[in-house]
Amino acid sequence: MPISLLNEKPKVREWGRTAAVPGHMLFAMIDGMSPVPTHPASSALGHALLIAGDRWNLQIIRAVFDGAERFSQLRDELGISDAVLSHRLGRLIEDGILDAHPYSTAPPRNEYRLTDLGDDLWLAFVALWSWDRHWAPWAPDRPTTHLRHLPCGHLITPIFGCAGCAAIGVTARDVRTEVDAPLLVDIADRRSRRTAKGDAPGMDSTSVLADRWSTFLLAAALEGNRRFGDFQNRLGSISPVTLTDRLAYFVDNGMLVRTPITDGARRHEYRTTPKSLDFFPVFAALNAWAARHLSEDGRSGLTIVHNAGEHLLEPRYTCNACNAVLRRADTEFRRATAGR
Ligand SMILES: [Zn+2]
Ligand SMILES: [Zn+2]
Repeated sequence: MPISLLNEKPKVREWGRTAAVPGHMLFAMIDGMSPVPTHPASSALGHALLIAGDRWNLQIIRAVFDGAERFSQLRDELGISDAVLSHRLGRLIEDGILDAHPYSTAPPRNEYRLTDLGDDLWLAFVALWSWDRHWAPWAPDRPTTHLRHLPCGHLITPIFGCAGCAAIGVTARDVRTEVDAPLLVDIADRRSRRTAKGDAPGMDSTSVLADRWSTFLLAAALEGNRRFGDFQNRLGSISPVTLTDRLAYFVDNGMLVRTPITDGARRHEYRTTPKSLDFFPVFAALNAWAARHLSEDGRSGLTIVHNAGEHLLEPRYTCNACNAVLRRADTEFRRATAGR
């Protein structure tokens, strides 16, 4: 259905490559200069990033996926205050991610379970887990988990791919994107979040998503922007100080490498690394979820085209041991370490 979109060449961006088309209206919109009419409603992906771009939301949903359902379990598991936990649970129920099921009336107690909408975030959580497993520093409060594929019995590494053509092993290099204008406006307008800096001793997937400028900068880097001025153009409303700060944070954490533009030159550019390119499945899975559930017309605000078949990317994971398509019911996350 959104095939006509594929012909709008000027909006096409290629992830992980130098963009062929300069100057897109998208970022101009942030400064209110766009010729495209805006609408006040969130684009679906903007909404999804708002839900996912919160450290506690992510940790709560992850814990519920892991089987914690009661308030006290979640509180103990996450080391979160009662007030913050109640507030976040209320918001996740409002957003339709969780449902409360009473299991006791005196005193009144609820169990929190994923709705169908919440359950469908599973793919995005597999993507976050995969990224953290490869790239996040070890931390005592982040126990190691394994993923078991029940039909074959193996502890597995999920392989990202496309259900549209059954491709196994799709990366940021295999797709290009088209961005609808409202999306990045939404990102720019996101309620302010805790910044990634000072949040954790090292960078985990949550600290990327929980900081709007980090999310934004990563998207721009994956689009192929490399130079300070290019990032500034893309991230219209970012201040030079904030941009410098986030670029340094990404370089320090191995998400970008800073190299001279030519040998011995004083100016530098910032290139994506395997670590940042690996974040692509997280965006792709969240985007597909947003299109499925948060959009009236099935469009999320970001179209990801699988170059191999010129069709929309349909994210999925397969098992590296038996090649079967992974489904939540056939898999089990298991803590590797005892205790807690
Ligand atoms: Zn495909
Ligand atoms: Zn398997």
